[in-house]
Amino acid sequence: MILVAGDFHNSGTATSWNLLRQGKSALESLEPGIREVEANEADWSVGLGGYPNALGEVELDGGVMDGRTRASGAVGSLRGYLHPVSVAYNVMKQLPHVLLVGEGAIRFAAETGAEKAELLTDNMRENLVKWQAGHGLVDGKGDLIKAVRAGMDPQHSGGTTVYLAQDANGDIAAATSTSGWAWKYPGRLGDTPIAGAGFYADNRFGAAACTGRGELAIRTGLARFTVALMQTGRSVEEAVREGLADVLRLPDGHNDLHLYAIDNKGNYFVASIQATSMEGGIFEHFYYVAQGDDETTQKKFSERVG
Ligand code: ASP
Repeated sequence: MILVAGDFHNSGTATSWNLLRQGKSALESLEPGIREVEANEADWSVGLGGYPNALGEVELDGGVMDGRTRASGAVGSLRGYLHPVSVAYNVMKQLPHVLLVGEGAIRFAAETGAEKAELLTDNMRENLVKWQAGHGLVDGKGDLIKAVRAGMDPQHSGGTTVYLAQDANGDIAAATSTSGWAWKYPGRLGDTPIAGAGFYADNRFGAAACTGRGELAIRTGLARFTVALMQTGRSVEEAVREGLADVLRLPDGHNDLHLYAIDNKGNYFVASIQATSMEGGIFEHFYYVAQGDDETTQKKFSERVG
């Protein structure tokens, strides 16, 4: 049994770990933990209190994948609902589809009785107003493309809850949730709701998930690529290193990206391409792991590459 949780959101890991210890399936254990993070206003890049887009709307993304069947469900640009991870899980359970976005995702959330919420908190509204003023946007009017291009400081703008688990039965699952890149262009999807990019789970080999600049994970199909490397016999550490090496081959790959992976034998590895903030600082990237008989999750720092 193992749980690997990134980024810096630790509020739900105890819940997921306890459920795993009680014998719940991987997927059934991950959803309640991530829901806690989504409901926690202090987690500023997920759910309630998450970063809004450049116009002030909080657009949430999330996904789940069941390693037993590789069934997946995801939502993108979901507005006005608190728990994208649950809406994503319901997409998997109730529709013959994998991904719903925007108005369709909102309609589905309403139809399935998902919990509504005003996601933009006063604190975030203040940050938004400052950001807009600093980037030439007044009352949402101005050069949006220029503002979004200039507003990509990794030190202040990201974060995704990604959970990977293997349960007592040996089954593997992945689940993700984020408000995406802060001050993004409206409608932008990152890697978090894209199976194969931001998350992937396959009982036969393992699971992987990404946080950070989602565009890089989409362009490299990173979560699937990492699991496919394990399929060819690489260890989980080799797979993560090779996955990130491929990102570093992109002309702009030296950016903010973190890759988490587990195999199906209890091994895990997490590494980061760390971006330098616009102020020149480096920030240490950490994640949480619980394994075997551990009663609690341990905080760990990811290995830096690139
Ligand atoms: N991967 C997320 C996205 O691109 C953001 C993050 O994890 O920092 O939307």
